[in-house]
Order: sequence, then structure tokens, then C-alpha cells
Amino acid sequence: MAESRQITGQCLCGAVTVTAQVTNPIVRACHCEMCRQHTSSMFISLATDPHSEAFTGPAKSFQSSEWAERGFCEKCGSTLWYGTKHDGVKNLSAGLFENAANAQLKLEFFVDNCPQGYSLAGDHKRLTTDQTIALFAPQEGTTE
Ligand SMILES: [Zn+2]
Repeated sequence: MAESRQITGQCLCGAVTVTAQVTNPIVRACHCEMCRQHTSSMFISLATDPHSEAFTGPAKSFQSSEWAERGFCEKCGSTLWYGTKHDGVKNLSAGLFENAANAQLKLEFFVDNCPQGYSLAGDHKRLTTDQTIALFAPQEGTTE
């Protein structure tokens, strides 16, 4: 069985420190328009044990839609997380952690929304917009 371990990450300026527990760390890339605007390319998040994260420092959040928020450092602007409001889950930015916590890329969301000038290599799972929405549809139904 995989064991849970604690990881620690920091934003660019070091004002925000985040700790979390990971069991089987993987990363996921999202090419949706909001993630692209927020990060310049794609948002790569690290799967951590739910609700295990803790922040110190000026971590703020911006409500980017009815159901989601995006965390950032108030001082340097580093992307900290993508969070869903209905369950309070925060998907942490992989870039906060050294070597992305040694996690492997397993999943891409909204691949048909990725600009044609670049792509991610590897044989991970790739979900189109329709497939991504279908995956999260049950949760969207609970946001009213
Ligand atoms: Zn910062």
C-alpha cells in the first residue's frame, strides 16, 4: 500500500508556504480558457489528499466562476490553487513543489482547447471538452 507523506511548497516570493499530504501523487493539466488566462499556458495541478492542505502567508482567492475559485499569492501573484466551492477541494499548483513532488502526468483536460502550437508528450489520458464536462457534470448539478 502506498503511504501518505507530507510535502511543502512555496510561491515565487516565499511569502506563502503550503503543506499537504500526498499518497499517490499525479499531476493533471487543464487547457480551459480560464486556466490559460490565469497561468499563461495550462494549469498543472498536483493531486493531494483532500483537505490536507494548509497555507501560511498572504494566500488570497479570486472567484472565477459560480462554482470555482483560484488562489494566488497577494504579494507575488503566484498561482496557488484551483478550488471548487461546493466541496472546498483545492487542487494545488504543481509548480509550488520541487520537481512537482515527483508526480507523473496522468490526465489532460480540454485537450481540444489546447493551442495548436504546442502539446504535451506521453501516453497519459486525454479528455476532450465534452469528456471533461461529462466527468464533472454530477458536481455541477449541486452548485445551485
Ligand atoms: Zn508570493
